[in-house]
Amino acid sequence: MPLETVETLIIGGGQAGIAMSRHLGALGLPHLVVERHRIAERWRSERWDSLVANGPAWHDRFPDQDYARTPPEGFPPAAEIADYLVSYAERVKAPVRTGVEVRELRAEGKGFVAETTQGPVRANNVVTATGPFQRPLIPTLVPQAAGFAQLHSAQYHNPAQLPEGAVLVVGAGSSGVQIAEELRQAGREVYLSVGPHDRPPRRYRGKDFVWWLGVLGLWDAKAAQPGMAHVTIAVSGANGGHTVDFRRLAASGITLLGRAGVYEEEVLHFAPDLARNIALGDANYLGMLDAADAYAAREGLDLPEEPEARRLAPDPDCVTSPLLKLDLKQAGVGAIIWATGYAPDFGWMRFGIFDQLGNPRHQRGVSEVPGLYFLGLPWLSRRASAFIWGVWHDAGYLAGHIAARRRA
Ligand SMILES: Cc1cc2nc3c(=O)[nH]c(=O)nc-3n(C[C@H](O)[C@H](O)[C@H](O)COP(=O)(O)OP(=O)(O)OC[C@H]3O[C@@H](n4cnc5c(N)ncnc54)[C@H](O)[C@@H]3O)c2cc1C
Repeated sequence: MPLETVETLIIGGGQAGIAMSRHLGALGLPHLVVERHRIAERWRSERWDSLVANGPAWHDRFPDQDYARTPPEGFPPAAEIADYLVSYAERVKAPVRTGVEVRELRAEGKGFVAETTQGPVRANNVVTATGPFQRPLIPTLVPQAAGFAQLHSAQYHNPAQLPEGAVLVVGAGSSGVQIAEELRQAGREVYLSVGPHDRPPRRYRGKDFVWWLGVLGLWDAKAAQPGMAHVTIAVSGANGGHTVDFRRLAASGITLLGRAGVYEEEVLHFAPDLARNIALGDANYLGMLDAADAYAAREGLDLPEEPEARRLAPDPDCVTSPLLKLDLKQAGVGAIIWATGYAPDFGWMRFGIFDQLGNPRHQRGVSEVPGLYFLGLPWLSRRASAFIWGVWHDAGYLAGHIAARRRA
């Protein structure tokens, strides 16, 4: 096949690829976006049906376009986020080619060659925007042959998809808690395995937590702070948005468990860490209220006081006397949903810049290979990097870098 040549190739047509295209386009820099499926595919087929954004519409967006259907204080459904990105790409005339997968990327001469499903493409620069959450990660605890339906949260769509019976949800970040809550509301018996987590208040003193993260400078936090990148955040925009409260989940009938451990003879064991994980989550919650109060006092903000936000109900029985093992068959468990996160998947890139976990070495997305960039990865430059509005700023930075490289 003839070799197509582009100046900058952007791989991936999610929010990161579209933001990158927008910034390069604004600088008049030629480029092409290739996407293996459809624009914003993950928001369509790799999220559950009822998912809404974790942040309100005024926040979870690009700065120069509002959502068409959800008002600023609402939480756009996943399908609307996908539509938003499609309409954004159309409005800015992003040159996106869908249905094209990059199977291999290698250096050649002073640039790169991408082997795609529609032939090779040569590029001077490549921006890899294939997602912060690429390969669903399922810990190898329960063998596939154990007789339970086992799926990752990326494969979960709705309660009707699961076999009859109780459901064990492992992982209590935003995905795990929302899925557990939905299953309980659908009348399922639900067990939820809870690891360490942050659980900021949804709203405090009249402001959404994304607003507080902004004014407190926490969106700009760098991953260099030890341990920060690894703690999952439990937040929810479901039903208008509410604080994730494990006591309320227990009161609704969900049985909370510690971290899932060894499985033997149909019995899954759980670490004795549930009370500690809940307490650390509480400490994070109360710490955020303290930081917000201190900020409001310092800045003289006239925000309504909310002392009741500090009142926590007593720990439920499942926390004070936790189950340390569960016979899954006896408990009637038909399905296990692993809301246990993702791993990177850059096996198709032929460069020696990946660490043992498969993450590329880079500085703010600029890799060690001249002309090779990464965008949209968790903590690429700061906490906001993998989120819709944060990736926008990282894309602007990389576009500036590409422009400077061109001038040089
Ligand atoms: C359950 C869940 C809820 C989330 N909710 C929010 C939220 O409310 N607000 C928020 O700001 N963020 C949220 N995020 C985080 C983040 O915004 C999303 O993960 C978002 O999809 C990331 O966009 P992206 O463009 O970086 O990557 P992706 O959306 O993953 O896009 C990457 C694209 O690259 C394509 N691709 C991959 N490999 C290739 C290849 N080799 N060749 C061609 N194309 C390829 C994929 O098909 C995909 O379309 C959520 C994440 C999850 C998992």
